[in-house]
Amino acid sequence: MSGIKPARRWQPAFFPFKKESFGKRLLAKVEICVKGPLFGCRMCGNCLLQETALICPMECPKGLRNGPCGGINPEKNCYVDETRKCIWYAIYKRALKTGREDTLLEVLPPLDWNKVGTETWGDVVRQVRKVGTGKFIGGILSGDTVKRTEVWDSVFKTIRQPEWWHGDSEYHAAPSGEPVSDLERRFREGKFVVATEVTPPLGAGTDKLIRDIGSVKPYVTAINFTDSSSARPKMSSIACCKVAIDQGSEPVFQVAARDTTRTGLQSTIIGANAIGIKNILCITGDNSVIGPSPTSNMNLLDIDSVQMLWIIRKMRDDGAYLDGRTFKNPPKVFIGAATSPFASDPVLQAIKDHKKINAGAQFFQTNLIFEPEKLDFWLEQLDKRNILNKVFILIGVAPLKSFKIAQYLHTNIPGVSMPEKIMKRMEKAGESAPEEGVQIALEVIDSVKKKQGINGIHIMTLSWESIVQRIVTESGLCK
Ligand code: SF4
Repeated sequence: MSGIKPARRWQPAFFPFKKESFGKRLLAKVEICVKGPLFGCRMCGNCLLQETALICPMECPKGLRNGPCGGINPEKNCYVDETRKCIWYAIYKRALKTGREDTLLEVLPPLDWNKVGTETWGDVVRQVRKVGTGKFIGGILSGDTVKRTEVWDSVFKTIRQPEWWHGDSEYHAAPSGEPVSDLERRFREGKFVVATEVTPPLGAGTDKLIRDIGSVKPYVTAINFTDSSSARPKMSSIACCKVAIDQGSEPVFQVAARDTTRTGLQSTIIGANAIGIKNILCITGDNSVIGPSPTSNMNLLDIDSVQMLWIIRKMRDDGAYLDGRTFKNPPKVFIGAATSPFASDPVLQAIKDHKKINAGAQFFQTNLIFEPEKLDFWLEQLDKRNILNKVFILIGVAPLKSFKIAQYLHTNIPGVSMPEKIMKRMEKAGESAPEEGVQIALEVIDSVKKKQGINGIHIMTLSWESIVQRIVTESGLCK
């Protein structure tokens, strides 16, 4: 993908915030003149090219720096910029082809905005000098792969992993103390868990919310509250969680990177834990391009879901903020992430899942699954990576109420693809579509219950909360 390419995603370069010295400005001009045509460089000032198979991740319209979003689909173009293929798919493919798969696992930091728009070559030259120019060149030319990697990392890893981040590609186990939530406890006890979600209300009234919580509460362990799903404003997830706690239910607090900054995230996690929230689900969030007009910012800009996992895990385990300040009473939280097993090739999806687990994900909630038989290959990939035993997996199941809903999900929701056989069943069902939808959900549950490595289901109600009781009862999953 590198090299002058007519289909490159040209984007305006960032500018520095403050006026730089003449030398730095000149260097920045030379850098954009070279890296612009070659790599579509936007002068993010925090270059990752060496680690992303020489394809600039800033070409991703969301600006994702840690792998693809759940909407990736190699057969279609990027759902945010429909004129281009997914840039992260190209990065993964090339990294695998060149044997650099391991570099995809390193948790990369968010942008240091103070560097945005400035040149990056100066840092490289300074670091090479520090290491020793002769030593660096000798190492790079060496036939010994270990030596070559060491000397490469002594320059580039130091630059891309600043002291305030120190990201790596290792797994960091959560503390082995008491479970922090009922959800975690039930997982650890080996129970097959049922979670669901209740749709947040549009207005500030809580009567319906309380009724919906009450109707699902006896049948599930935890209730998710979406964070402005489909990029449409509603009551915030944190407010719904508080209402659920007051009703004696255990909530899962969803935080979407789409609307989150690093400062906001850290303050919110402390606040959420202080009011009794224990389960946090970090998601990228549906892009504003699928939300209502006028379209809000499509870039994630500040942090992605992997970086969110990393920051929250460090707050919990090290009692420290990103800026290094330590504090007493760290948040006691059970951290989750979303996964989209079939968005692209499950082999590639498993790499992203691996990274999320390394960053801090203890449980996964999958996207909607309608073809449970396909899960086996994905689970195999997780197992091969030795991560299947490091995460609890809830499979996303949806009772479809109508053929129209099936069509909507298939066409509009990134990462969801409805198999033809399901579409046909829903279409043929006519007025009995809700009944057919329930039967499909029950069949999926029946199939996933038997699978090794699956720890439960997550019923995505699509505003049909009253059906939860029937699904849980008829599938024999009553608490
Ligand atoms: S599909 Fe997602 S990850 Fe890929 S380029 Fe588009 S927004 Fe980025």
